[in-house]
Amino acid sequence: MIARDLRSGVEQLGNMIAEASSIVPFTGAGISTECGIPDFRSPGGIWTRNRPIPFDEFVASQDARDESWRRRFAMEPTFAAARPGRGHRALASLYRAGKVPGIVTQNIDNLHQISGFEADDVIELHGNTTYARCIGCAKRYDLSWVKQHFDAGGGAPDCADCGDPIKTATISFGQAMPEDAMQRATELAQHCDLFLAIGSSLVVWPAAGFPMMAKNCGARLVIINNEPTDQDDIADLVIRHDIGETLGPFVGN
Ligand code: NAD
Repeated sequence: MIARDLRSGVEQLGNMIAEASSIVPFTGAGISTECGIPDFRSPGGIWTRNRPIPFDEFVASQDARDESWRRRFAMEPTFAAARPGRGHRALASLYRAGKVPGIVTQNIDNLHQISGFEADDVIELHGNTTYARCIGCAKRYDLSWVKQHFDAGGGAPDCADCGDPIKTATISFGQAMPEDAMQRATELAQHCDLFLAIGSSLVVWPAAGFPMMAKNCGARLVIINNEPTDQDDIADLVIRHDIGETLGPFVGN
């Protein structure tokens, strides 16, 4: 059912939250747009400006790695300046109240952790762009280290230990999904009684399968997104309004 207007949507959502004992939020890029981080598919979003570099191209080509890091460094002022928005803060309030056992996110911006979630309770399906890892031995690197070596050596550096390429700790197109995160997201989706899909176009799979999975396992499904999604038909409530406006009333102390 699509909420008649923002006010009735917020009211119905409030009732569902009050009735639920285990709420699992599932977030996409839309929750972070009010924090200044553009989403993927909206006009002017990252997707429309830059062709994504698939994983096999990143591995095979120094040029692709250089380009990938140039893009990442160009985004650094945006990621570094971003602070949690009303959506992040509302979900963190529900988490502190003991209603949310964990959050599943497609986002790579670290804002759920900054808003107050324990890192272990943030299930990152597509990784995290605020640090880097060697794709061979998984050694962790700070972005400042990568930048320093990029500038000094004229290109994307390789791992100091094993010599394999270093990449932001994100999952690129064509790269295997993280098994642990997929397993934990599955458990959360299967055992909650309210699943909140927030700010996702629900077109990136397998991540987009979780709302349907939760619904099939008996949870109520709410979709909060300012444009229609393919899964609106199966949702118990669709709030087609701004996320900050919708979740702002749920920001607690
Ligand atoms: P998406 O860009 O495909 O979809 C975002 C959706 O949110 C769109 O339907 C858009 O209309 C909606 N939206 C944007 N701002 C909104 C607002 N203020 N209120 C209500 N709705 C709003 O994003 P996705 O489904 O998460 O898939 C994109 C992929 O890109 C993800 O896998 C993610 O890893 C990555 N990504 C992450 C970030 C981030 O970490 N912040 C940003 C861009 C892309």
